[in-house]
Amino acid sequence: MPTMHELVNPKDMRAWSRADRARGRRIGFVPTMGCLHEGHLQLVDRAKQRADRVVLSIFVNPLQFGPTEDLALYPRDLERDRRVAAERGVDCLFVPDTAAMYPAEPLVRVRPGPMADALEGAARPGHFAGVLIVVAKLLHIVEPDVAVFGRKDFQQAMLVRRMVDDLNFGLEIDVAPTVRELDGLALSSRNSYLQGDERRDALALSRALRAVEQTWRGGEADPGPLARRGLEVLRAPGVAPEYLALVDDQMRPVARVDARTVVLVAAKVGKTRLIDNVVLGEGVAADPAVRA
Ligand code: AMP
Repeated sequence: MPTMHELVNPKDMRAWSRADRARGRRIGFVPTMGCLHEGHLQLVDRAKQRADRVVLSIFVNPLQFGPTEDLALYPRDLERDRRVAAERGVDCLFVPDTAAMYPAEPLVRVRPGPMADALEGAARPGHFAGVLIVVAKLLHIVEPDVAVFGRKDFQQAMLVRRMVDDLNFGLEIDVAPTVRELDGLALSSRNSYLQGDERRDALALSRALRAVEQTWRGGEADPGPLARRGLEVLRAPGVAPEYLALVDDQMRPVARVDARTVVLVAAKVGKTRLIDNVVLGEGVAADPAVRA
């Protein structure tokens, strides 16, 4: 296995990237919060297809967690992450600590604008402002040619795209499909919180997305009945629905549904908050499943 570099200091990280870019190599970047699963690793595969060197960062960003959220509990397993990242061909693992990322409280910040007002932004005030500031910092530290994000966090990926366009970051943002378990559950580090029946109850999210998709394929293009059908399925035992919305790629509710419409769901299963989505024209079944 080729050796993987591991860096903790932003200055070293930038120097590593710049040295490779000076040799004409393209840098691909996959930012994560660790506890790596196949969803993260398929982002690495895509980055490898689009670049000569792949950097993966692990940083649990305090700025994107609300005061009542799971920052302290967030699952961490650096030893295992190191192993699976190296096995998958990551060239450089960037693992800064909080002091390295935030030596002082950042006074100058990124304002995410209206795309962050609804859905996850409404449920988690300040979340996207925290996400965009850390993504902006990481992109300036790593200076990649392409950064790969997962569609699993659709609103986040669209906001990152918009930030990069609006503020002329000058790199490509690639968005990869959601990787699922064979039974449809979208992979997430937070799935490790699910206990007992909760793992089965959590299937209500992907089932609701499939119900909307099937109803749409059956000829319904009005978002009202489609949302009602999805919520009916989402309201399953053990599941507390938070939202089901049909939006375009700017997170605006659609008046008529077409193949580009995205259906987004959030629900609590026990104490665990889960999100999922589908782009209707692509379909849940088209998402890759975990390799056996
Ligand atoms: P996280 O570690 O949860 O911050 O996620 C890091 C990146 O992995 C983000 O771009 C996520 O959208 C992406 N990601 C997380 N879960 C999945 C999944 N099941 N399929 C594809 N990408 C994912």
